[in-house]
Amino acid sequence: MEPDSHLSSTRNIGIMAHIDAGKTTTSERILFYTKKSYKMGEVHDGDTVMDWMVQEQERGITITAAVTSCVWKDHRINLIDTPGHVDFTVEVERSLRVLDGAVLVLDSVSGVEPQTETVWRQAEKYKVPRICFANKMDRVGSSFQFCIDTLKSRLHANPLEMQIPIGMEENFYGVVDLFEMKAYTWKDADRGEKFDVTEIPDSLKKLAQEKRQKLIEGIAENDDALLEKFMGDGDFTNEELKKSLRASVLQNKILPVYCGSAFKNKGIQPLLDAIMDFLPSPLDIPTTTGKDPEDESKEIEIKNTSDQHTVAFAFKLATDPFAGSLTFVRVYSGILKVGSQLYNPRTQKKERIQKLVKLHANSREEVPEIAAGDLGAVVGLKFTVTGDTLCETSHPVILESIVFAEPVISTVVEAKNSAEHERMLQGLEKLVREDPSSRLKTDPDTGQYLLSGMGELHLEILVDRLLREHKVQANVGKPQVAYREAITSAAEAKVTYEREIAGDPQYAGVSVKIEPQSYASVFTFASNPKADRVFKPEFLKAIEQGVRDSIEIGPLCGYALLGVKTTLLTVDVRPDQSTEMAFRAAAGNAFREALKKTTAELLEPVFKLEIVCPDDFVGNVVADLNSRRGKILAFNPKPGGGGQAISAEAPLAELFGYATDIRSVSQGRASFSMEFKEYAVVPAKLRNEILKKMGRII
Ligand code: GDP
Repeated sequence: MEPDSHLSSTRNIGIMAHIDAGKTTTSERILFYTKKSYKMGEVHDGDTVMDWMVQEQERGITITAAVTSCVWKDHRINLIDTPGHVDFTVEVERSLRVLDGAVLVLDSVSGVEPQTETVWRQAEKYKVPRICFANKMDRVGSSFQFCIDTLKSRLHANPLEMQIPIGMEENFYGVVDLFEMKAYTWKDADRGEKFDVTEIPDSLKKLAQEKRQKLIEGIAENDDALLEKFMGDGDFTNEELKKSLRASVLQNKILPVYCGSAFKNKGIQPLLDAIMDFLPSPLDIPTTTGKDPEDESKEIEIKNTSDQHTVAFAFKLATDPFAGSLTFVRVYSGILKVGSQLYNPRTQKKERIQKLVKLHANSREEVPEIAAGDLGAVVGLKFTVTGDTLCETSHPVILESIVFAEPVISTVVEAKNSAEHERMLQGLEKLVREDPSSRLKTDPDTGQYLLSGMGELHLEILVDRLLREHKVQANVGKPQVAYREAITSAAEAKVTYEREIAGDPQYAGVSVKIEPQSYASVFTFASNPKADRVFKPEFLKAIEQGVRDSIEIGPLCGYALLGVKTTLLTVDVRPDQSTEMAFRAAAGNAFREALKKTTAELLEPVFKLEIVCPDDFVGNVVADLNSRRGKILAFNPKPGGGGQAISAEAPLAELFGYATDIRSVSQGRASFSMEFKEYAVVPAKLRNEILKKMGRII
């Protein structure tokens, strides 16, 4: 047997969806039918197996991307749960990084929804092959055809119908498989474990013939050899068709679409077969590119097989009440073994692998090793965080880290008494370590702790975890918008740093130019002085760090700066006196001096909104948006008189409590989703009010 032959039967997949489409229920059913879950959980009972954290169960949303392993027809499926709420898109991104394939779940009443587009874009970015599951076929108003249409119109995907639904809405009871040309039907009584495979009902026979023909055409269009045959005698085996379809899915040319009702236990087994048949195995991704930590311009090709040096990527930290701290990893190359010692090039520290676990829906299994292509968790790592690479000391390499967006909302947290302070700080640090889309800062003026996150809900959950999981008694302030600052003019400054520290002279001279650039970039450091024996490469890093330290405090109100390009113009170095410390300090001073000569603006986060509401309430919703400095971008009528989808944008500062307010202006009939769009300039009048409040303007 080839060493990695088991990998051809491994699937690392994630389920992606708009919130409420049924991702959690579908995951639950997958675990149930693969027998790793002893009892079926229902989301509305707060009883699901994947949603481990109390908060998730109460809110009925899934936050953590827990990896759960299960087995289907001799195939191991590592299921990586991804959250649907946009506050947590970073969680989706990080899981997409380590997935090989994904299932896109749609609510077949709504078809493609705003967050479906968001997760689709993310999957495109990482070129993840996908199949689609049109869920909730039992609901009134569901339509498989509508799903197919919106996949085309909103995602520009190339969907292929793999099935025909049998029965409609509450009478939906099965699917016709267009490969096998058989009917798969489920009865309500037995939790969907058993299903009947029978002849296609007479009423659907003609349609099934037509749809099968369309399916074959769709597959052949992307396969020249098959197309030639199609033009000839047109006779294919299902095996040939499946092989060709698999190749097209792997190249993201075709999206096979299935349907069912997870809640009513129908259609999950064919979906599992499709995962096996069409989504990639780790062997379909033969190499990964890393970088040399010593010289990041050098690329290193990593072969994704077990006979290579070990390379693993940490994509998630979590605290398990029993096992302690878990670092979820994907092993890209070699074998991660208990007892081995690995190197983290970012921290330049070694970590001993003491315990490895694989997580199933409701149990942990200790394993001696995790091989290339597989996922699991390491227990008790100390210096490794999300985005880090673990490798062999003799063969250092770094995989591209995960870029997290800047948090847009923050809140003050203060311990109720001094005895609680230490525990609160420990809890906060742990939370922020586990969740890289959160931040912890100390307010330089008040010494209070500021916890920041990606949205109101994200922040609420962080605070909830602090109070409950870490059992801290704390006072928590109202959420505040995380403003930023940007410079609007360019300036230069030259600074010399000269000091004696512990009897040693320290010297560095630096001149920099700062200028505005797009707010989308946090900071760019452009410079290339010739490094030589006197001006060492470390000095350049120290200069960059000095500038980085200083962008944290803007000139208007002390909010962090966005969109500053810094160019190092000159350096002045003395052979025995210049140190990294001196350069870091000089660069920071030079940056701050230049900042004094510029003008600046206050920036605020602006969110994109998509609101779906019945026609009767459009007027109310628009009036409410206008009162929130909102801008209406488009009205898109929903098919079949289903109201309007309103695209709009508004500043986050005006959107606190929007979930409650929109309910009251629409009698609970409107639904919405929002997503961070960009930072934009705060209008002058409002800026002056904010500055006044902060005591910065008289
Ligand atoms: P997620 O937010 O995508 O994880 O969605 P959930 O799995 O939490 O489901 C959202 C709601 O839809 C829950 O109340 C589920 O019980 C319900 N639901 C899920 N699948 C189906 C389905 O197939 N049919 C119906 N009628 N309801 C469903």
